[in-house]
Amino acid sequence: MVQQTLVLIKPDGLKKSLTGNVLTRLSETKLEIVAARIVQVSKKLAEEHYAMLKDKPFFDDLIKYIMGEYHKKKVMALVYWGEDAIAKVRQICGATNPEEADSVSIRGAYGRITTKGVYENVIHASTNPEESEREIKLWFEPDEIIVDLYPAKTVKTTCEKRVWA
Ligand code: UDP
Ligand code: MG
Repeated sequence: MVQQTLVLIKPDGLKKSLTGNVLTRLSETKLEIVAARIVQVSKKLAEEHYAMLKDKPFFDDLIKYIMGEYHKKKVMALVYWGEDAIAKVRQICGATNPEEADSVSIRGAYGRITTKGVYENVIHASTNPEESEREIKLWFEPDEIIVDLYPAKTVKTTCEKRVWA
């Protein structure tokens, strides 16, 4: 089944200059990158992205982690698209806990557990089609993705925006 999945290279990955390594590993999947952007993650975006984990004891530290408070205030967000995209990307990421992850997986090779107990595991990847739809719509607007993944509509807006001076 052709699927799409959200990938985030988390702030520890960017701080440790792992972007190239991570993208090279992901290219083994032969999936296509159909969207990419560098994002400074707001508290709102962080809390929405991890809404399902809001009752976990590590939630506050997780929000600080994804916002870049421990590393660099940036995340690289990408959408990968192709046959079995979700499972293929998760496979290369490895298990959530970097100590349990296969040592040749991205998380096994580059992740660590902090003394506070947060898993700094370099990469996020969606786990199922419902999650990938929710997450892709959270991180990207329709026109930032080069294929039509979900139905979209055109609306007239009167928002102010910055343009090149
Ligand atoms: N996490 C953590 N401790 C835990 C479980 C999760 O620090 O016991 C962090 C970790 O960075 C993980 C993120 O919270 O990637 C989201 O957790 P989830 O269970 O969704 O794991 P994932 O889907 O990222 O493998
Ligand atoms: Mg998850």
